[in-house]
Amino acid sequence: MKLSTAKTILKYTKEYVDLTGVRVAQVKNGFYYFPAERGIAVGLEKDHEDELWEEWMVEYLKDEFDFEIKKEHMEIFSLLHEVGHHVVGDVCTPEEYHMLTNQIDEGDLYEYRQIPDEYQADKFAVKFLCEHLEAILELL
Ligand SMILES: [Zn+2]
Repeated sequence: MKLSTAKTILKYTKEYVDLTGVRVAQVKNGFYYFPAERGIAVGLEKDHEDELWEEWMVEYLKDEFDFEIKKEHMEIFSLLHEVGHHVVGDVCTPEEYHMLTNQIDEGDLYEYRQIPDEYQADKFAVKFLCEHLEAILELL
């Protein structure tokens, strides 16, 4: 996702949630949130692994949250997931989070989504996009 697209979406999102002090930057790929900096990293490109992850997530979101989203809109979901980390704040302590991520078998996507911080960020993104995806798509 281009940085300009992310900024358009965040400008819209700001009308509904407090994003004071949140900064956004472009990175090569992947979406991340850095709590200390209130920074959201926006991945420009998608590699093959990202494509597979998106396919998995579309199914996961349908099963877990009864939320239907097209694969082509998964980058919007990823951005709102990072916003979710900001809005929800820390659910686990950083130590607990570190411990939980270390317990997960490499590549176990389901277990990762069940980490409380990740689950709550997903939940935020699902709720927000249920209400606002149509409006966001009209802006892009
Ligand atoms: Zn996350």
